[in-house]
Amino acid sequence: MEIIVMGCGTSQGVPLIAHDNPGLDLNNPRNWRTRTSVHVVIEGHHVQVDAAPEFRLQCLKNNIPDVNTFILTHGHADHVLGMDDLRQFCTNNDGSAIPVYTTETGKKRVEAIYPYAIGEAASPGYIALDLFLMPQELHLPGGGIVRSVMLPHGHEPTLGLVFEEPSTGKRFAYYTDCKTVPKAAIELARHCDLAILDGLRPNFHPTHMTIGKACEVSVEMEARQTYITHMTYQIDYDTYTQKLAVEYPNVGLCYDGLQVVL
Ligand SMILES: [Zn+2]
Ligand SMILES: [Zn+2]
Repeated sequence: MEIIVMGCGTSQGVPLIAHDNPGLDLNNPRNWRTRTSVHVVIEGHHVQVDAAPEFRLQCLKNNIPDVNTFILTHGHADHVLGMDDLRQFCTNNDGSAIPVYTTETGKKRVEAIYPYAIGEAASPGYIALDLFLMPQELHLPGGGIVRSVMLPHGHEPTLGLVFEEPSTGKRFAYYTDCKTVPKAAIELARHCDLAILDGLRPNFHPTHMTIGKACEVSVEMEARQTYITHMTYQIDYDTYTQKLAVEYPNVGLCYDGLQVVL
């Protein structure tokens, strides 16, 4: 299984516009974060999880050749606004609709923003999406399995995803945009080879985990390796990487373009 971190910044991206971003080393490219999403290749099948406003640029930068299945974790703008750029992947697959799996509220958001994209393509070269509610267990072409669990995130619950690749036995948990990770989600991800967890910033936020909370969750689920995502400008890459190396040696920070092969 291959995981590509397309973006790992919070909803406004990093650095903030019109702001002096104190404490952030702008000479370090790892502190330039586009909005959060991942691309997963599992049993040769390409799954795109969320589409940031920078989705087009992320695809070019990471040479993404295909999107066979799309999963929208929830309907917030920073996860849904890049979806129109899925159109080239439809064109490359003879105009067939891309299956999209999401939550009840995610489905309503996609229908509201992209009414022209639901079902068959309006004309050749246009986007086409088939919308489905994410099941608890999704079996992908090729044999990959994605299990889902709901994570609390204010008024917009988020899909937590655990990918399992039967041919390698590897498991990857992706829990972005969540205030906590409930017991059922801890159990679903227990002993996973890789976890990517929401860790917004050091201080309290009503709908996201802090960096400290993400580290505790990583320990609780006994993940072999954890990377933190959805970070604000308050997280300087080098400063926090050094800090985490001492306190939580299995926890690091995502950066745009990070690739992990399991
Ligand atoms: Zn978000
Ligand atoms: Zn969100």
